[in-house]
Amino acid sequence: MNTANPTTSTTSPTPTSNPIDTQSLNTHSSNTQANHAQSSHTQYTDIIIVGAGPIGLSMCQALKNTGLRVHLLEKQSQEAIAHPQYDGREIAITHRTKGFMKRLEQWRELDKDRIHHLKRAEVYNGQSLFALGFDKPDRVRGRPIETLGYLLANSAIRQAAYNALLPELQHPSYLTAEFGQTIQKISSHADYAEVQLAEDRAIQGKLLLAADSRVSFVRKALGISADMQDFGRTVLVFRCRHTMTNHLTAHEGFYYGKTLAVLPLGEFESSMVITIANNKVTTLKNLSNQALALELSQWLGGRLGEITITSEIFSYPLLGVHANTFYAQRSALIGDAAVGMHPVTAHGYNLGMESVEILSRLIHKAAMRGQDIGKTSLLRQYHRKHSLKTRPMYHGTNALVKLYTDDRPPAKVARHIGLRVSNILTPVKKVITAQLTG
Ligand SMILES: Cc1cc2nc3c(=O)[nH]c(=O)nc-3n(C[C@H](O)[C@H](O)[C@H](O)COP(=O)(O)OP(=O)(O)OC[C@H]3O[C@@H](n4cnc5c(N)ncnc54)[C@H](O)[C@@H]3O)c2cc1C
Repeated sequence: MNTANPTTSTTSPTPTSNPIDTQSLNTHSSNTQANHAQSSHTQYTDIIIVGAGPIGLSMCQALKNTGLRVHLLEKQSQEAIAHPQYDGREIAITHRTKGFMKRLEQWRELDKDRIHHLKRAEVYNGQSLFALGFDKPDRVRGRPIETLGYLLANSAIRQAAYNALLPELQHPSYLTAEFGQTIQKISSHADYAEVQLAEDRAIQGKLLLAADSRVSFVRKALGISADMQDFGRTVLVFRCRHTMTNHLTAHEGFYYGKTLAVLPLGEFESSMVITIANNKVTTLKNLSNQALALELSQWLGGRLGEITITSEIFSYPLLGVHANTFYAQRSALIGDAAVGMHPVTAHGYNLGMESVEILSRLIHKAAMRGQDIGKTSLLRQYHRKHSLKTRPMYHGTNALVKLYTDDRPPAKVARHIGLRVSNILTPVKKVITAQLTG
């Protein structure tokens, strides 16, 4: 077992001077908890967060000034979380997410040379030269903006989220973290939620938050059902350099049987995102890098000149998930555990950050008023607010994916008409641009 701070995460039922390893949760629930405690070593906290991905780490940071104690549990080693490896994902960030990352002191942790600007986005249907284009608006929510959106490596986002928390991990005042942990069992009760760990240990809290990815163990254990969409496709991602400029324009091309997104990382470097049926992946992966680069060049009609693949090729099976509710008794889902999006519309992380923003604000308000932070009405409010946006986004994205991966003639015509009509209708373009900028 790894711990962020061995002294603070040692579990003990006896009181210590440590502010985190507290003797009891609070007066109103400690007796009930003691009655229910099954394990020989039970640790009490206010909020348990499972998963130290970008969303779990962001939630830890967002709860900083609430006066609440937080306990973070992660299955990977601390080394893996502290030094996230490049995983091929380049994440498109909206202006809203950027603002929240700034408030969480994460933005300043980013290497400025690795923040890439997106000036324009274009959508193509097959080899047609017609593009539905989206330009940077002058202002977003009344403020002048420099770019349509930002592109950041997922590893850079994870690193920034970890670095922002580092002072707290090193000198804990409200947060304890345990890495390399395997959860055995989850249970929730009227007064508390409990996570059972190995070695007959348990953590009890007033609220349990699941940030453990789209195949969430916690969601399943809580009995929360989810709409799951296996697209039968895989996304391949890698970096390329090219001899001609990409004009800092993202390109989304729907070719027959596959899609290709080109995300600009500076003018002469791009991230390639290929979506292809699962049974075609091996053929593509068996190509040499030179042959694959040539193939990409052909799809793009030579638009980027000579292409050279510069990174490892990473693959992700495409699975869309939307939990049917974002809460259960004394527990809630955030990030991908709540909604795991198809990456084509680039919303997963952005929506995850919105889940943190909405829920942390509600928790903060309740804590300030001395109210129960795990009460059902609060969790229901979170569910209502967040799902207002996630449901249409999730189903809209899935419908779009279906239309753009269907190569029967009616679908091809519908796409063709769709792109042209959207281009003419200013309100439609405005709505899409607003989604892109956040
Ligand atoms: C190819 C690709 C491109 C993408 N592009 C974009 C984009 O452009 N824009 C965008 O907004 N989003 C994008 N996304 C989505 C984005 O990557 C995710 O939404 C985001 O990473 C979710 O973060 P998370 O913290 O919720 O989950 P994760 O990043 O999956 O982290 C979950 C954490 O929980 C831990 N964990 C799992 N199970 C347990 C357990 N049982 N116990 C303890 N810990 C556990 C894991 O080890 C991990 O650290 C893309 C995704 C992919 C695959």
